[in-house]
Amino acid sequence: MRKPKFQVPTGMHDILPKDQPYFDKVYDVVSKIVDSYGFSKIVPPVLEQAELFSKGIGLATDIVEKEMYTLKTKGGNVLAMRPEFTAGIVRAYIEHGMFNQPQPLKLFSFGPVFRAERPQAGRYRQFHQFDLEVFGEASPAVDAQIMQICYNILQELKIKDVIIEINSIGDSQCRPYYKKLLVNYLRSHQTALCADCKRRLRKNPLRILDCKEEKCQRVKASAPQIIDHLCQECNNHFKEVLEFLDALDLPYRLNPCLVRGLDYYTKTVFEIFKEGPAGESQVALLGGGRLDNLVRLLGGKETPVCGVAGGVERIVGLMKAKKIKLPVIAPAQIFLAQIGISAKRKSLGLFEDFRKAGIKVVESFGRDSLKAQLGRAQKLGVKYTLILGQKEVIEGTVIIRDMEKGRQKSIKLDRLVREIKRKLKT
Ligand code: AMP
Repeated sequence: MRKPKFQVPTGMHDILPKDQPYFDKVYDVVSKIVDSYGFSKIVPPVLEQAELFSKGIGLATDIVEKEMYTLKTKGGNVLAMRPEFTAGIVRAYIEHGMFNQPQPLKLFSFGPVFRAERPQAGRYRQFHQFDLEVFGEASPAVDAQIMQICYNILQELKIKDVIIEINSIGDSQCRPYYKKLLVNYLRSHQTALCADCKRRLRKNPLRILDCKEEKCQRVKASAPQIIDHLCQECNNHFKEVLEFLDALDLPYRLNPCLVRGLDYYTKTVFEIFKEGPAGESQVALLGGGRLDNLVRLLGGKETPVCGVAGGVERIVGLMKAKKIKLPVIAPAQIFLAQIGISAKRKSLGLFEDFRKAGIKVVESFGRDSLKAQLGRAQKLGVKYTLILGQKEVIEGTVIIRDMEKGRQKSIKLDRLVREIKRKLKT
C-alpha cells in the first residue's frame, strides 16, 4: 500500500475508536476517585506564556531547554503549548484569587500535554496527563494522601504490583549546601560522566543523579546523598511522610537518586512504577511531589502545594498489555430500514423518537434496496428490523421483523417505541 500523503506528526498519535474506551475508563476512574477526596476540575488553556514555564519549571531543565513547542504571536508574545499542567494551574490559582477560598484547595485536570522529546516506546510528543494539585496545606499527611489517591486509581484500573519510589530534595535552606557538596564530588569525577552530564554539571547538577547512562550510574553510586544533609524541618517532614505511608500500608522504596529534575520541587518527590521482572527497564506511570515555592515564584503569596501528574498513555499501555477487560458498550438491537423518499423522511423523525427514548438504533440512509438493508441488519446481529415503505407511511404503520425467527408484523407508528421497549425488555 502506498504511503498516504499526510501522516500523523512524528511522536504524536491518533487515539482510535478501539482505544478510546481505555482513555474514557482512566478519566472516569480518576474523576470519580478525586471527587471523593474533594477535588474540583480546572481546565487551563493549552497555550500559556512561555515564560510561565521557564520561570516555574526552570530554564535549565530538559523540558524548557529543548522540549517546549513555542510560537510567536503576531503581537510578538511568545506562547508555549503546555508541557505539563502544574504551572498553568498555579497561574490560574493566583490570577483568580483562589487563595481567598477556603484552603486546602484541591484542583485536578486532565488533557493533552506537549513535549518535543525523542520518540520511543512510551514516550510521545503529545500525550495525556491527569494532574492533581493541593494548595494551602503544608502537612506531610497531604503528600501521603496524594500517593494514596494515585495508588487507589491504579488499583481501580487493575494495575497491580506498583511501587512508589520516594526521596526528599530538601528546600532552599538545605539544598544549596548539598548542591555544593554534590558538585565538588562530581567535579572530581567529571571525566567519567557522559557528555550530557558534563553540561548538567554547570547548569543542573542534581539532574545528574537521574541520568540512566551506565558510566554516570557508577559515579553516582558513591555520591553524597541529600537524605544525609536535610535540614531539621525537611528531615522531620520526610520522616513523617514515610510514617504516614507505613500507616497506610503503601508499598514504597527510598530512592536517593530521585530528583525529578524540575526547579520547583521542594522536600518530597516521588514516582510510581509498575514493578517488573528484575532488570526490566521501567517507565514511570506517575510523578509528583511538593512545590512549596512555586506560587511565590510565579508572583503569588507563599503557599504550600503538593501535586502529581499521571501519564495516561502509559497507564493505557499497561491496561492493554494486561488485557484488562472493559465493559462492552451494548450494540444497537434495532435496525431501521426504509424504502423510498417519503419513508426516508419519516425515518429521520423515528430515529429521533428512539434516541429520546434511550434506544439505540442503526440505519442505513444511503441504501435504498430492502435486500441490502436486511443484509446489513443481519451482519450487525440486531434483534429487530423496522421496515418502513411507501405503503406504511400512508397507513401510519411500520413492519417489525424479528431477525432470528424471520417473522414480521405490522404495527401502528404511534405504538412503535412502546412496543419495541417492551420487546427488548423480555
Ligand atoms: P513527569 O512530570 O515528566 O514525570 O510526567 C508525569 C508522567 O507523565 C510520567 O510519569 C509519565 O507517565 C508521563 N509522561 C511523561 N513524559 C511522557 C512522554 N513523553 N510520553 C508519554 N508519557 C509521558
